[in-house]
Amino acid sequence: MRLILLGPPGAGKGTQAEKLKKKFGLARISTGDILRKAVEEKDSLGEKVRSFMERGELVPDSLLFTLLESKLREGNFVLDGFPRNLTQAKKLDEILEKKRENINLVINIKVDEKVIVERLTRRFICLKCGKIYNDEKKRCDNCGAKLSRRNDDNLNTVLKRIEVYKKHTYPLINYYEERGILRHVQGNISPEKIFQNIVFLLKREGIG
Ligand code: AMP
Repeated sequence: MRLILLGPPGAGKGTQAEKLKKKFGLARISTGDILRKAVEEKDSLGEKVRSFMERGELVPDSLLFTLLESKLREGNFVLDGFPRNLTQAKKLDEILEKKRENINLVINIKVDEKVIVERLTRRFICLKCGKIYNDEKKRCDNCGAKLSRRNDDNLNTVLKRIEVYKKHTYPLINYYEERGILRHVQGNISPEKIFQNIVFLLKREGIG
């Protein structure tokens, strides 16, 4: 099973990717998590990545591919936060074509802009395992690590990220729709209900 989760920042891609990983034993490939880990390393690559993330801009494709290349070797995966523009989508096609593999389904999680801003400006995340919490909390239920706020979850950067999404990522909906592999789910409901709908969708498509 090879899936892509699409949707604006704060749609719940990370939460759903984590649930899909657990239920179907998929590798969760989150470019945001990979990039945050690179920033923590504090080397020259991490420094470059940090400046883009803090501004809410996309990290340049060349830097991203350097970090991502080895991860895409995983056989069954759910991609969370990648691809984010047409160049990345085409690069992914190229990599999969070489292996004679393809993407089974692209799931687009739809949410209103107002909900995104509310969610992101109050969320906490676990930097160790990637679990996401929508309310203030001290420690992670999953691994016990201390929770943090993301540097880019402040109002100005969130608004910039939404703008970047509309310009660069939104066109991917059309890209995958034309291939007939795009499906939509409503994201304004609880994470559990969204997940139920995704599982239902996968079953209907004969891949769950
Ligand atoms: P996320 O955790 O998916 O919300 O990503 C956080 C930030 O990491 C984004 O605002 C970008 O700066 C960067 N980022 C994550 N994924 C990508 C990607 N596929 N291409 C470029 N930048 C990315």
